[in-house]
Amino acid sequence: MISIALSKGRILDESLPLLESAGVVASENLDASRKLIIATSRAGVRLIIVRATDVPTYVQYGAADLGIAGSDMLAEHGGSGVYQPLDLRIARCRLMVAVRKGFDYAQAVRQGARLRVATKYLQAAREHFAAKGVHVDLIKLYGSMELAPLTGLADAIVDLVSTGNTLRANGLVAVEEIAQISARLIVNQAAYKLKRAEIQPLLDALVRAAR
Ligand code: AMP
Repeated sequence: MISIALSKGRILDESLPLLESAGVVASENLDASRKLIIATSRAGVRLIIVRATDVPTYVQYGAADLGIAGSDMLAEHGGSGVYQPLDLRIARCRLMVAVRKGFDYAQAVRQGARLRVATKYLQAAREHFAAKGVHVDLIKLYGSMELAPLTGLADAIVDLVSTGNTLRANGLVAVEEIAQISARLIVNQAAYKLKRAEIQPLLDALVRAAR
């Protein structure tokens, strides 16, 4: 049995057509279902539904053989124990620094001000500001990052930006790009060796589907 870990939301919406092209069709409507383990049309392949942040963990420990995870989540996790053989080029967006309109970010950086930055992406933010030599106090949030600069919790946020609509609707502007993000196929390293005969055809089909 091969388990593929997926998270609901954008990744699932954009992964299902890819999986279907690779011959893996969920046996029920995932939007309506509350089941966390879903059989598929492909014998010996099932889907398991986990939180986006948990996909790399399930695959690292072999509770799932394969997974589809945003490169943002992989960066936070560190990627240990997993191969990343394929950029699926779906769920694309950018990890960016954003501030309240009117806040002079460039000036604050030039002056060496100590910035308070709220984010879910501590690892990526830490590396980014360290590389720039900017002193920051990072505040961990789990969602609605856009609220932080509006309520005085932070000077800036680090968050995913796709269309930019969420930033605009909240009077924020993006001031710096940290990384281009897309979803990656990940594979448990031990499973790749021990279940190669089952995993390789699936990988090949996904490579063809993602072209
Ligand atoms: P947008 O308004 O299109 O710029 O989207 C921004 C909101 O959607 C933010 O709350 C982001 O955290 C979230 N978001 C954007 N792209 C992604 C993605 N690829 N995966 C997960 N969340 C995303």
